Amino acid sequence: MKKRVILWFRRDLRLADNPALHAALAGDFDSIVPVFIHAPDELGDEAPGGAQSVWQHFSLAALDASLQGLGSRLVIRHGPTIAALDTLIEESGARAVYWNRLYDPHTIARDRQVKRHLEDRGLETASFKALLLHEPWTVSTRQNTPYKVFTPFWKAIRDEPAGNPLPAPSRLPEVWSRLGSVALSELGLLPDIRWDERIRETWTPGEDGAHARLEAFVSKTLPEYRDSRERPARHGTSYLSAHLHFGEIGPRQVVHRVEEWLHEHGREADRTHAETFLSEIGWREFAHHVLFHFPNTPSEPLDERFKHFPWANDDEALQAWQDGRTGIPMVDAGMRELWATGYMHNRLRMTVASFLTKNLRIAWQHGERWFWDTLVDADLANNTLGWQWAAGCGADAAPFFRIFNPARQGERFDADGAYVRRWVPELAELPNKHIHEPWAAPERILDDAGVALGETYPKPIVDLKASRKEALEAFDRIKNG
Ligand code: FAD
Repeated sequence: MKKRVILWFRRDLRLADNPALHAALAGDFDSIVPVFIHAPDELGDEAPGGAQSVWQHFSLAALDASLQGLGSRLVIRHGPTIAALDTLIEESGARAVYWNRLYDPHTIARDRQVKRHLEDRGLETASFKALLLHEPWTVSTRQNTPYKVFTPFWKAIRDEPAGNPLPAPSRLPEVWSRLGSVALSELGLLPDIRWDERIRETWTPGEDGAHARLEAFVSKTLPEYRDSRERPARHGTSYLSAHLHFGEIGPRQVVHRVEEWLHEHGREADRTHAETFLSEIGWREFAHHVLFHFPNTPSEPLDERFKHFPWANDDEALQAWQDGRTGIPMVDAGMRELWATGYMHNRLRMTVASFLTKNLRIAWQHGERWFWDTLVDADLANNTLGWQWAAGCGADAAPFFRIFNPARQGERFDADGAYVRRWVPELAELPNKHIHEPWAAPERILDDAGVALGETYPKPIVDLKASRKEALEAFDRIKNG
């Protein structure tokens, strides 16, 4: 009997450097059945949010097109996963199931169940590392504990060779034509009311889109990354986060390309930019390490003192923050960029998160959930780490007393106000000196710029100085446990 293998795609939506696909091709199989199973109910809070679902739709379409280009195709099925795999096994006569590993807690539990079930049925199973450079359980401190601080973590893995990326196949075996597939449109990943137009204009989900981004980044932005990454008005970062989240490109491919570029250039100045960028990939590894070892952190603070923090219940303020109408230009600009494009610059993520958790004293979990639904790159590990970092309660977190002043952030990182003007056009005519603090501008300047506070643009919903003081007092109450 012919041997067939099911290749179970999840967040590894690529053909190049895909270890499960590579192993399936190298194995003794006549046929490979590539399948995606839509089972969001199995993932609890880890199920993709709204913006991510839009991305996933187009990424799956791109994967199917690439597979078809090589003579294969993507078989799509509805969950539950075990039932879908059982049916496929019956229909295809497959004797093995291969996949690449994921590290989010619900997914790990589900995958364990699937593996047990398949093995009980006598099928061969194999899983591979594709999402990360290093498995979270292979790195530990000298005391054999997980790392909670980034720098020693990065030091421990930075020089470990990641290996060479695996090539993409040039041809794939055909998939039996009687093996049915659900139409992608039936998964309901796109919204009924099409709010996603700008997301579609901004991004090109899929493996080709990911490589185009990487190439554009390496040729134009990497040579100045260390400086440009801090300027939200410039496109000074790689914009690879969603591509990495969906596994349209792997971290090993990214690292390899950067090292290749360094090799070609080899100037000391280039090395600084490359090292800064690679350490961001390191933060991604760190976030997955922390999530794996502390799987409660998506909902609970790593620093337990924060379980008793007196968070405020203020739905109106939360709504103003979500809508980008807080009256604080940098915060509103960031939140509006997020809503329009599904993305927010890292400097702004830190600023709006600090504002929510410290100036408004709203629990970080509310911000985490909003980001989860609106970011195209929403990633349980990175989002949890980012929010706990900003709230001061996570691994290697910013100390609680480090409260970002959004107006000073604006003066420092958006000195000419270009970012605020782009996203808060009602302030566009204000001179640079006042654009980050319109509430402090003289009446005449506001009039000249056509700004009427409380009418054309909100007055600040909170006093930055007073709320800072209150936050510090609240922290004092929990500080000593
Ligand atoms: P680049 O600067 O080009 O960095 C390259 C890659 O490194 C990124 O694509 C990303 O995979 C990784 N990376 C960069 N910074 C970080 C970081 N601080 N932590 C972990 N990985 C990092 N990133 C997400 O991918 N998903 C999230 O849901 C997410 N939520 C965040 C929430 C908050 C409150 C904060 C402060 C940060 C969050 N980040 C998140 C991290 C960071 O803001 C984004 O990864 C980055 O802005 C993506 O843009 P880029 O790809 O152009 O980044």
